[in-house]
Amino acid sequence: MDEKTWDILILGAGPAGISAALTAHARGRSVTVLGADPMTSPLAKAPRIDNYPGLPGMSGRDLLAAMTQSLAAQDIPRIEGRATGVMAFDGKFMVSAEQDVYTARSLILAAGAQQGTKPLLGESELLGRGVSYCATCDGMLYRGKRVAVLGLSGSAERDAAFLRQIGCQVLFFGPAQAKNCEIKGGTNVTGVVCGGEEYAVEGVFILRPTVAASVLLPGLAMTDGHIAVDENMATGVPGVFAAGDCTGRPYQIARAVGQGNAAALGADRYLKERDE
Ligand SMILES: Cc1cc2nc3c(=O)[nH]c(=O)nc-3n(C[C@H](O)[C@H](O)[C@H](O)COP(=O)(O)OP(=O)(O)OC[C@H]3O[C@@H](n4cnc5c(N)ncnc54)[C@H](O)[C@@H]3O)c2cc1C
Repeated sequence: MDEKTWDILILGAGPAGISAALTAHARGRSVTVLGADPMTSPLAKAPRIDNYPGLPGMSGRDLLAAMTQSLAAQDIPRIEGRATGVMAFDGKFMVSAEQDVYTARSLILAAGAQQGTKPLLGESELLGRGVSYCATCDGMLYRGKRVAVLGLSGSAERDAAFLRQIGCQVLFFGPAQAKNCEIKGGTNVTGVVCGGEEYAVEGVFILRPTVAASVLLPGLAMTDGHIAVDENMATGVPGVFAAGDCTGRPYQIARAVGQGNAAALGADRYLKERDE
């Protein structure tokens, strides 16, 4: 548990998130970037970038490494983790990431575009009725019960260990099996079918490397699968801003970096107005 309340917490350590952090820091804000390993950005797959000014022919990996280095150069803290849920409470935001919770007065969502996250059979129908994306948030509800962990993310084993530690009976399925599981139930989850075999469980934790923004923060307005923002990168939720590929096309580094800058200025303005 991180006791500190950050002025601005940025979710996602890609170009948009890093740009937002640099601007927030320059405005004198306490800021941290919570994100998966920066090399999980799709940019890491780009062999050569020719449309980003000043760094001709650089590879995506080298550009990400340089951007990450610019955070370190200014002593901007980066927390490596996967955010699984956001809760708004008393003018603050509590962000869960695996077993930790971070608190901030404003948020900038910069988690990139959601790709390849086709829901499993039964997932959408049983969400909130036995299907969960967050072991830390919902684990205690299943204490003493049998649950399945569908481990599609690298850190899923840690979540499974946490669930065991609090007294859940855990069936763990790694990525190869979890991809094709089906969730069964009526009013609530009753079982899971994985590898052609059905197992009786009362809860199913689906742990993916990324979590859709609308799942992370229920109530967020979306347009065509992207977070809806105004010209200041403000979302419909006061205090929450968004930047980069998560706000729409074209998916480009220059756009992500520009929006990250605008989102940080928007968050700074929001905090100033609140403090007046
Ligand atoms: C093969 C390829 C080549 C490309 N080439 C170019 C190019 O030449 N020029 C160009 O302009 N653009 C290019 N792009 C597009 C460019 O990569 C994106 O526009 C850019 O990376 C967007 O930055 P972003 O910060 O918005 O999101 P991302 O770079 O996607 O960063 C988001 C980060 O947030 C993390 N994250 C997501 N969810 C969570 C969570 N719940 N908790 C914690 N962290 C999370 C992700 O793992 C990721 O690290 C290319 C893309 C690909 C795939």
